[in-house]
Amino acid sequence: MLLRHTPKEINPRKALTINPAKTCQPIGAMYAALGIHSCLPHSHGSQGCCAYHRSTLTRHYKEPVMAATSSFTEGASVFGGQANLVQAIDNIFTIYDPDVIAVHTTCLSETIGDDIPQIARKAEADGKIPSGKFVIHVNTPSYVGTHVTGFANMTKAMVDYFAKSTGTRANRINIIPGYVEPSDMEEIKRIAEMMGVPIVLFPDTSNVLNRPQTGKYEMFPKGGVTVEALMSTGDSMATIGLGRMASSPAARALDTKCKVPCEILDLPIGFKATDRFVDTLRKTAAINVPDALNEERGRLLDIVTDMHQYFYGRKVALAGDADQLIALTEFLVSIDMWPVHIVTGTAGKDFEARIREITRNVPHPVNVSAPADMFLLHQWIKNEPVDLLIGNTYLKYIARDEDIPLVRFGFPILDRVGHSYFPTVGYRGGMRLLEKILDALMDRQDRDAPEESFELVM
Ligand code: SF4
Repeated sequence: MLLRHTPKEINPRKALTINPAKTCQPIGAMYAALGIHSCLPHSHGSQGCCAYHRSTLTRHYKEPVMAATSSFTEGASVFGGQANLVQAIDNIFTIYDPDVIAVHTTCLSETIGDDIPQIARKAEADGKIPSGKFVIHVNTPSYVGTHVTGFANMTKAMVDYFAKSTGTRANRINIIPGYVEPSDMEEIKRIAEMMGVPIVLFPDTSNVLNRPQTGKYEMFPKGGVTVEALMSTGDSMATIGLGRMASSPAARALDTKCKVPCEILDLPIGFKATDRFVDTLRKTAAINVPDALNEERGRLLDIVTDMHQYFYGRKVALAGDADQLIALTEFLVSIDMWPVHIVTGTAGKDFEARIREITRNVPHPVNVSAPADMFLLHQWIKNEPVDLLIGNTYLKYIARDEDIPLVRFGFPILDRVGHSYFPTVGYRGGMRLLEKILDALMDRQDRDAPEESFELVM
């Protein structure tokens, strides 16, 4: 009974967050940077921040996550971290030889006000950046935004530093996948390939954070978008950004910088959002949707029609990232489940309005709050119990206290595997999500069934 002190009575809180439904900006920046081939993320701050960010990513992906740090001590904290960063750039290129160092800041270096571009220029002037190598940067003060903001900012930095327009349009589409798993990025590439659409996906953490065991350690695995591909994004005919918060800053920057028109869509989770993604690809590339993809959609639909009675009217509580929750809520509503409590750690009136719009026909009151925390979610559940929880590992405490089944979804998932290998985007991803939801509901039904109604067949 870890959260036994959570009171049922809800008092308004303004200056206190309890059990946040988010994590810190540099984690997202580090994750995005790992989606560039041969890139070493660099944390400009103290060792503690870097260790925390690396360990969170390592625990979620079960892969060693490499990142360097400026290792601030008292001196750097008072006088600034220029000397540390110039030294770090020199050491990293000399010892590890990446193509790119992607620097992000932390609360400490932001509070000091270190000017990273000026420091990078100094490193260049001192001959510390070998020719053909790059240092890019992004500001990620963690007292604003979340890991999704950090991801969005680092992805935009890829555009700011690399995208170029040669004046010749290529028959190719840029896709910014949003804050999703390596498996989801793989699935997005597979769908585009099935449709015969040439794409540049950036960032791309597939084959970086879900790489196979080969018995040989590679500091820079073969996955990730190359610098050359990033440069070519300025010549693509269009950009599709998936997930407004994670992808629109980079997509819009590319439009402004290189006049590549962009369309911002929801993450392709569930029927409608995947339909919109596939249809946008179809229209932009002027191609037909292949039968094989329609068949995948049909299989997803088959699960829903076969199992509808188990979904109908089940109340669900959700916590997580805004982009993911919007698409997930739409999916749940489309199969007649009732998402009744929804919180995200990201600020946003748009989020609340969008969720209200998606849930307007749900025949039950819906609580939605942004920004909000898991403490509030728990209080809502105490007042209005639910059949299912969906969200990251931190929800397991509420699940245990209230005896509610939990489907792990989102970031971070620290106590299970699978998320980095099996997607939840696209029609096939939808099938996996439904499988997980059904498993949780049916296991609970079996556990609670009296002997006379303990069914072998569902
Ligand atoms: S919140 Fe700030 S101080 Fe804390 S780990 Fe993140 S960057 Fe470091």
